[in-house]
Amino acid sequence: MAINPVSLGLLQEGLCQFCQSHESNLIHHYLQLGGRTGFYSCQSCISNGKRAVEVFMKEKAYGDAKHLRGRFIRIQRSNGDIEDDWTLDDMIPEVISLLGENDEPIGDGVYCLKFHPKKQIYLSKCCLISEILSLNPV
Ligand SMILES: [Zn+2]
Repeated sequence: MAINPVSLGLLQEGLCQFCQSHESNLIHHYLQLGGRTGFYSCQSCISNGKRAVEVFMKEKAYGDAKHLRGRFIRIQRSNGDIEDDWTLDDMIPEVISLLGENDEPIGDGVYCLKFHPKKQIYLSKCCLISEILSLNPV
């Protein structure tokens, strides 16, 4: 059974995601250093938490766009412009189910980033994986 990563807050006390026992000193297993999501475990399930992170990063992270990790990619902006020099967002490896204007599912997406040197900020966009794959053929 696959356990999905959750947003990890400051929660110290709660349920272990692996054995469902109540724990007063939860261990936080982050998917990525500096990231915000991962798994909670109790003291007895530490190895399950570490393994869940490894399995997720190996098998699920970035879905079908996994091979583009660490590369510059081309994406389509909301205004239709095609832009280069984006990357997959290292901090958000989860695949997100994207919805259209009427809340109907339109496909899986991943977060992409680009540094904007003039504004000194990171631009972020959740892009359809199918669109990324067609804009970045192997
Ligand atoms: Zn446990």
